[in-house]
Amino acid sequence: METKIFKIDPSDICDGSISDCADIIRRGGLVSFPTETVYGLGADATDASAASKIYAAKGRPSDNPLIIHVASPADADKYAYTDELYKRLADAFMPGPLTVIMKKRDIVPDGVTGGLDSVAVRCPSHPIAKALIEKSGVAIAAPSANISGSPSPTLAEHVISDMSGKIDAIIAGGECEIGLESTIVKIDGDKLILLRPGAITADALRCVCENVKISDAVTHMLAENEKPLSPGMKYRHYAPSVPLVLLEGEADKVLTFLHNAQNAEKCAILCYHEEFEDLRQERLIDIGAQEDLSTQAQRLFAALRDADKLDCDIIYAHLPTKDGMGLALYNRLIRAAAHTILHVTSASVIHHKNH
Ligand code: AMP
Ligand code: MG
Repeated sequence: METKIFKIDPSDICDGSISDCADIIRRGGLVSFPTETVYGLGADATDASAASKIYAAKGRPSDNPLIIHVASPADADKYAYTDELYKRLADAFMPGPLTVIMKKRDIVPDGVTGGLDSVAVRCPSHPIAKALIEKSGVAIAAPSANISGSPSPTLAEHVISDMSGKIDAIIAGGECEIGLESTIVKIDGDKLILLRPGAITADALRCVCENVKISDAVTHMLAENEKPLSPGMKYRHYAPSVPLVLLEGEADKVLTFLHNAQNAEKCAILCYHEEFEDLRQERLIDIGAQEDLSTQAQRLFAALRDADKLDCDIIYAHLPTKDGMGLALYNRLIRAAAHTILHVTSASVIHHKNH
């Protein structure tokens, strides 16, 4: 199929293009659109056959449920049984990068929730996403608009490269501000279970709900027979086509290791801004200053895609800390690296195949 591209400036939204895209959604088609987190691949969340096209376009396993996007926090009640804790979360963080899982209402087809009796709801703050949902008049089911297993798209060109010819339309609306997918929490009585970390940090959630439990799957590899609370956690994700190795250790030792690696092998490096001048200017990607986690988050997925296009045998990146927004970076990177972490000591050599 031919994929129409609509270029829309988020600060000057053209009603005509939004109406055309909303018509596609209402007719059961697929439209990719920017959000403040990453680009989504949207379909009418009340139409099972439209939602099934999302799985086909992405090559996504059908048991991995979709997040549904609403135009205002109050609209969640049409699709899920909201409660007082949801209202507190909505007041604190919505519209914005928070997804809340609650018991679903019948209007949401099983095909959208992977057969679960719960549904994940988010109200994005991006003006294009908001305009599209409003104009469509329904909630929009939308996972990230990448081929399943690839890094999520943060630029329209990433969506064009993954989805051209497979979907009806792409709204090209610039770079996504946050760059990592939404924080996902599940409401469990008066508790919150953090299933996926994002820009809304665990500490921020604790200001609204005392009892926040971070799911083990956020930081650990699942055992083979383990059933995660969030089906998406069991799938390999964000992975480049060559191995990615995460480095941990004292800054000067890691820098020495990277120097040696540049001499010994064809490696790409996602380095901190502070290291950029010190390393050979070859297959080197500046991920942002070490303390600037927001910039690192915004650049990470594009950096993984860019590194993958370089002629290299291996990619190195720093293992992030698990503090604040660092937990979201940590969670995406350990999955991209299939949990390959190398602790760099002065004796480290370029042999990490068994780690
Ligand atoms: P993506 O759509 O690519 O941002 O991924 C959505 C994530 O939300 C996946 O990891 C899903 O497994 C998770 N998710 C969506 N709906 C539910 C639900 N009802 N229960 C648990 N996890 C969910
Ligand atoms: Mg995704």
